Amino acid sequence: MFAKYQFYYELQNSPKEKDMDITALYQIFLGCTGITTDSRNCPEGSLFIALKGDTFNGNAFAAKALEAGSAYAVVDEAAYAPAGDTRYILVDNCLHTLQQLANYHRRQLGTRIIGITGTNGKTTTKELISAVLSQKYNVLYTLGNLNNPIGVPLTLLRLETEHELGVVEMGASHPGDIKELVEIAEPDYGIITNVGKAHLEGFGSFEGVIRTKGELYDYLRRQGNSTIFLHQDNPYLREIARGLNPITYGEGNSLYINGHVTGNSPYLAFEWRAGKEGEFHQVHTRLIGEYNFPNALAAVTIGHFFGVEAEKIDKALNEYEPRNNRSQLKKTADNTLIIDAYNANPTSMLAAIGNFRNMQAEKKMLILGDMRELGKDSAEEHQRIVDYLEEYGFEDVILVGELFAATRHTYTTYPDAPALIAALQKNKPCGKTILIKGSNGIKLNTVVDYL
Ligand code: ATP
Ligand code: MG
Repeated sequence: MFAKYQFYYELQNSPKEKDMDITALYQIFLGCTGITTDSRNCPEGSLFIALKGDTFNGNAFAAKALEAGSAYAVVDEAAYAPAGDTRYILVDNCLHTLQQLANYHRRQLGTRIIGITGTNGKTTTKELISAVLSQKYNVLYTLGNLNNPIGVPLTLLRLETEHELGVVEMGASHPGDIKELVEIAEPDYGIITNVGKAHLEGFGSFEGVIRTKGELYDYLRRQGNSTIFLHQDNPYLREIARGLNPITYGEGNSLYINGHVTGNSPYLAFEWRAGKEGEFHQVHTRLIGEYNFPNALAAVTIGHFFGVEAEKIDKALNEYEPRNNRSQLKKTADNTLIIDAYNANPTSMLAAIGNFRNMQAEKKMLILGDMRELGKDSAEEHQRIVDYLEEYGFEDVILVGELFAATRHTYTTYPDAPALIAALQKNKPCGKTILIKGSNGIKLNTVVDYL
């Protein structure tokens, strides 16, 4: 305990107290059992960091965190740090401190890190890459979808000396977001799953999306000898990868890893090989959707690059089960559901509809919810989806939300999920294969129980 108080003394008496030397805090962190930012979950001996949100001020929970078990509380408002109580550490900005601490820790351990971003498929690809690499290495990877300026540092702070590789998901909704995250995580390798239309409100335009995702490659370009993994079939990705020496994957015969889809009803099956001469390997995934082919091929590529045996790559991909309403298949007593109600943007919506169109099934039905956060392009993008539906000849379609309702179409619409549920309670479809997709905010996941 003495050592900790000593550090505290140094912190308190440092002339740059507000601009704290991160090394001192790092020593405290090492003496703690872990980091927490949630006062409802403060393991004994943990380091609590008081973050602020739109509706809460973590500082106000510091005392509770200490009471609950945390050994120290990092706060950024002096009013919440009682004078003389050595358990409080006052800093200028808790979020910056969390990020600095994570970066410092990452540097201390020196674990090789693979940064992953992209418009769609980040979490799926991250999970697949991690499943493959875990066949050979001790891998730390982002839990769930913790891909923002808080989640990335929390992920890095879970790094232990035993970890041989880290796979870190990075999300963005504004220009500069990825730059901020790569400067915290300092990845050695990078992969951008794809670029597409999402969060157009925040990015301003599609070009804004491309530039922002490219911030990962920009960082790696500056580092000199970094490696990127490139989906060679995507022209936008090829463009932003210019000047880098990529490890390529896709359908082209001569790519580092190449392959193609062999089945899609309902699960994705594909074959792959290493280079022109390699032997083809067959993979039968538990993933719905042909759009998961590049995601799975990325995992093959990275696994192969890091020396995971081909059989083990195949095993990991054959066994991986998707979670959290991402491209899940569910059979109810009456219907077969393809649930993709976790998020939606024009690119992923079109991918899901295109995939559904190619699927072999009788009596197809679509329940589609609004795509949120599209800014000025919103009306046009919703219209485009409806036009596709008509062009593809889909007849059994239900649209949910005011954005779809405002388009020109011939389909049934409901203002929200509860209205649709009320209708389903009176008249339930039967014997159908139903695609359910929309932004999380439309809550189409709540409809599942009524089908
Ligand atoms: P988020 O931005 O919420 O973190 P994400 O990028 O992590 O999303 P996932 O959660 O892996 O993406 O997948 C979300 C949905 O995106 C999937 O259910 C699917 O509809 C779609 N999707 C996944 N991969 C692709 C792809 N390669 N191309 C187009 N759409 C895709
Ligand atoms: Mg994600």
